[in-house]
Amino acid sequence: MRNWNRYIMNKDYETVIGLEVHVELATKTKIFCGCSTAFGAEPNSHTCPVCTGMPGSLPVLNRQVLEYAVAVGLATDCEITRVAKFDRKNYFYPDNPQNYQISQLYLPICRRGKVEIETKDGNKFVGIHEIHMEEDAGKLIHDEREDCSLVDYNRSGVPLIEIVSEPDMRSAEEVIAYLETLRMLIRYLGASDCKLQEGSMRADVNLSVREKGAKEFGTRTEMKNLNSFRAITHAIEHERERQITLLEAGGEVVQETRRWDEGKGDSYVMRGKEDARDYRYFPDPDLMPVYVSEEMLKEIRDKQPEFRAKKMERYKRTFDIPEYDIGIITQSRHMSELFEEVSALCGQPKKVSNWLMGETLRLLKEKNEEPEDIRFSPRHLARLIALVDAGAITGPVAKEVFEKMFEEDIDPEAYVEKHGLKTVNDEEVLRQVVEKVLAENPQSAADYKGGKQKAIGFLVGQTMKAMKGKADPGLVNRMLKEMLG
Ligand code: ADP
Ligand code: ZN
Ligand code: MG
Repeated sequence: MRNWNRYIMNKDYETVIGLEVHVELATKTKIFCGCSTAFGAEPNSHTCPVCTGMPGSLPVLNRQVLEYAVAVGLATDCEITRVAKFDRKNYFYPDNPQNYQISQLYLPICRRGKVEIETKDGNKFVGIHEIHMEEDAGKLIHDEREDCSLVDYNRSGVPLIEIVSEPDMRSAEEVIAYLETLRMLIRYLGASDCKLQEGSMRADVNLSVREKGAKEFGTRTEMKNLNSFRAITHAIEHERERQITLLEAGGEVVQETRRWDEGKGDSYVMRGKEDARDYRYFPDPDLMPVYVSEEMLKEIRDKQPEFRAKKMERYKRTFDIPEYDIGIITQSRHMSELFEEVSALCGQPKKVSNWLMGETLRLLKEKNEEPEDIRFSPRHLARLIALVDAGAITGPVAKEVFEKMFEEDIDPEAYVEKHGLKTVNDEEVLRQVVEKVLAENPQSAADYKGGKQKAIGFLVGQTMKAMKGKADPGLVNRMLKEMLG
């Protein structure tokens, strides 16, 4: 149906997308009380009268939340609202014990910013409409067997910022680039780990289509429940097609909230679009206005890290490694700090970069982890590089030790010692192994003698295998040639 429609589609459409991104801040305690934000605790163990909405309890703003919000605002070129306020957003649902969520409507902490994204057609800016602070809701667990729902308020009151973009994106590719840029900035700040799968970063996609060249935007829908870049891309493609099909058939797009089901590859209506009026917002009388003083602003500005663009410039001046490497290493602040520390210790930046871009990224991908999750210490990688340089271990052994180090941050020197992984270059020991390999592979030996130079490679490989990678391959090569005359 969708494909068929493509053929008769007589107009050219443009997709218009704006994002609402929720980010859980990395504070130790909640936004308005002292309860822990730690994930995975016994249900309802991190709760108190404030975050369970008991009458008479009073919220007090966590200063760290404000600092993170302002830091993200500065990193996204926003104007900081010097006197901001909190408002109550009223809604009734069991995940929300107060029956209102404390959020910001009238005077959000940051406004009118922008982020620069890289796309295949060059760089472009995506406008930030606003960033506001708010509290997260609790979690409902629906128990089908017992036919009841349980609620866990540990997440209730966990601090969030909501970053609302302008409708400036035109494709899924731009949306992913925007999210990656936001995630990188926020991780550089240490304000959140921004994990989509774990819900510490959540994106709602607002999408409309319009005829190319049209001045006005079309009616939009909002899609929720998108917890991976893949789901976001699929949902965007699907929703664009759905809206175009509707319009082509002479219908209208209805403004509504839809839920994306990645398993089914389809979306369905969650609810009609509500607007600010439905929530009966009003200023929260329990919280003082938030005043951002000149000193506080300066303090936060001074604490901003060196972001990627500046870092890349500095690396180009200071390190003798390819620009390609620099681009990859600086995508993560943690990885670039590791790079600098290990390089300072061993003086060989290119070797450090090879370990990071090769084995490190490979293992991260395999374990579905992020560069921020790297646990090995700089001095251990420096030591591993030194072991290889000294010829104490071979390349294959180094990779094996690295994997152990990646997982458990072991000291490579001690590990090599303990497991007897040092390269063997004792000819007496090797001779026995080489003789055995020759005896077991008479055909290859004959091939080499008959002039097939390549056969030696196979024999070196067999010897290395018999030595579990621990022999000096150069020495093995020489010995084989000697023994084969
Ligand atoms: P509301 O207050 O009703 O939630 P907003 O104006 O705050 O609406 O917009 C919410 C999000 O929707 C923003 O990210 C904005 O960029 C996006 N948006 C608004 N209009 C459109 C549109 N016509 N098409 C696509 N996205 C839109
Ligand atoms: Zn609490
Ligand atoms: Mg909105």
